[in-house]
Amino acid sequence: MNDLGHRIKLTTSFSNKFVDFKLKHIDHMAAVNNGNENQPAKHQEVGHKSLLQSDALYQYILETSVYPREPAPMKELREVTAKHPWNLMTTSADEGQFLNLLLKLINAKNTMEIGVYTGYSLLSTALALPDDGKILALDINRKNYEIGLPIIQKAGVAHKIDFREGPALPLLDQMIEDKKFYGSFDFIFVDADKDNYLNYHKRLIDLVKIGGVIGYDNTLWNGSLVAPPDAPLRKYVRYYRDFVLELNKALAADPRVEICQLPVGDGITLCRRVS
Ligand code: SAM
Ligand code: CA
Repeated sequence: MNDLGHRIKLTTSFSNKFVDFKLKHIDHMAAVNNGNENQPAKHQEVGHKSLLQSDALYQYILETSVYPREPAPMKELREVTAKHPWNLMTTSADEGQFLNLLLKLINAKNTMEIGVYTGYSLLSTALALPDDGKILALDINRKNYEIGLPIIQKAGVAHKIDFREGPALPLLDQMIEDKKFYGSFDFIFVDADKDNYLNYHKRLIDLVKIGGVIGYDNTLWNGSLVAPPDAPLRKYVRYYRDFVLELNKALAADPRVEICQLPVGDGITLCRRVS
């Protein structure tokens, strides 16, 4: 967490504009100033991860379509998370709304989440699933999950969650070994260590059912994917950027999935397994 609070300027040759990045963690967000560098951007608000180039437009989306429809427990969890020092890791409210609707659209019942933090995307999932729905939730940090847990319990959806503390990869390997999990998940949300996304994909492709969906989060990596090679990116941004670039290429070339990369939040790539 030693990257908390750092800011960098990234000169983008494609637009000849400065894009002001506020980078706080491996899963950070962008602050885009609409070309006005002296104006503090709304993008710097907690939970704002949009790649939209207009603060006003993003604010409009939040105020018109997202906040008025945000379930009370999600609002409460968002506000509690806002006080946490690593709050920039949380899923934004508009992405939470997107996930919730997507899960209903695909009638998801059995799901997995890799990367829970305080549980905002987990709660949006739990609220979307039927009462007998299940979420296998994996994270190396139980403490952060426990911040959101009382709210999840109060919302009456904790019984859907099977939280496992520990690195996801060994657990996925166990599930691959135990063939009963093959093709058993309707939806899998991946929002953890970006350098493992391709390792996750190799396993998740067998665990998601044909017709099911894997969602990879942060696949636009704050726009740093198109930064010029000499851009002064912080070390970890450059490090993870290469993995995200590799992932995006690999997903685009993978015939086992149909894909769609959406600029919601920090970019989410949906992969529908077709074979
Ligand atoms: N989806 C969460 C939300 O809505 O708030 C945000 C997840 S946060 C961006 C990333 C999480 O991945 C962190 O909580 C971190 O502890 C977890 N993580 C990092 N490496 C992991 C690993 N190898 N296995 C499981 N979880 C991991
Ligand atoms: Ca994320």
